[in-house]
Amino acid sequence: MNTAKTYLITGGAGFIGSHLAEHLLGSGHRVTVIDDLSTGSEENLSAILPHPSFTFIRSRVSECAELEKLVAGSQTVFHLAASVGVKLIIEKPLYSIRNNLQETACILEHACKHKKPFLLASTSEVYGKSSSSYFNEADDLRIGNPHLSRWSYACSKLMDEFMAMASWREHETPVVIARLFNIVGPRQSGRYGMVLPRFVQAALEGRPLTVYGDGTQSRCFCHISDCIRALTQLVEGEPPLGLGEVFNIGTDSEISIAELARRVIALTGSESEIEFIPYEKAYAPGFQDMLRRRPCLKKLLARTGSKPATSLEQIILDIAHSLGKR
Ligand code: UDP
Repeated sequence: MNTAKTYLITGGAGFIGSHLAEHLLGSGHRVTVIDDLSTGSEENLSAILPHPSFTFIRSRVSECAELEKLVAGSQTVFHLAASVGVKLIIEKPLYSIRNNLQETACILEHACKHKKPFLLASTSEVYGKSSSSYFNEADDLRIGNPHLSRWSYACSKLMDEFMAMASWREHETPVVIARLFNIVGPRQSGRYGMVLPRFVQAALEGRPLTVYGDGTQSRCFCHISDCIRALTQLVEGEPPLGLGEVFNIGTDSEISIAELARRVIALTGSESEIEFIPYEKAYAPGFQDMLRRRPCLKKLLARTGSKPATSLEQIILDIAHSLGKR
């Protein structure tokens, strides 16, 4: 019996999307990627571009002429296309807000019309300035005021979540929402601000690792393979396992950014130094960072039976290995 399915991935030329596409093709499915290459790249797809079951369409989601046909013909839509990265959001806030809202509204309408499972990739940024030690999907959210561009990303992704939820409630569109927490791994670019590829690249080149602020802020880093497993598990089944719900995806083992820098230097055997840079120099005056962001993973574990487990050491070595090969 041929059980191959067709999946549509928007933003599939990005770091997460390209790993997802590879995984689905490797499992014998057909994959179509729509990406405008604004932050993604064809290089991310180089291993799968020649695959007979793979199609790449270079376009914005809202400008893709075949969009409705592609949604209608797919088993599941993974909607990953978005403006991402704190640096990019601060540099181009208006573009980012519009992009995140318009593209989601457009493709969600088709998923709604054709009742297609729709996974929205959201972000831990939506938890905003919450000071709780674990972020739970049911928490209230505390976002900063509109004078600070940083929070526009959280707000735009939160509106995407509200749109998806409304579509589920009003029209029974089978939506699943995944809030991603610091997903890292090979192929992630440091260009848009993400800390781990920047640190590893600097360490390999013997340049200083730049820690913003005093380095006591902490994060939990999750390997891309763990993230892909969770994303695919949440849409399995009919109806999808995660139907109409929000899930945190990440790990809950926490590390301060200063300690992360030390760990990267030690594991890569680098002679780089650590340089501390004030936030306002690194980003913009008045910049507010999230001091902690640690997911509660109880819901993910209860529903899928597993939670991300790759150790930070393995993650750093994996990134160093892939950067070293380039
Ligand atoms: N950061 C840093 N140096 C860098 C890039 C980022 O110290 O070169 C810090 C950043 O200020 C934040 C943390 O590392 O406190 C994680 O940043 P990233 O942009 O990777 O993720 P997010 O802030 O979205 O969790």
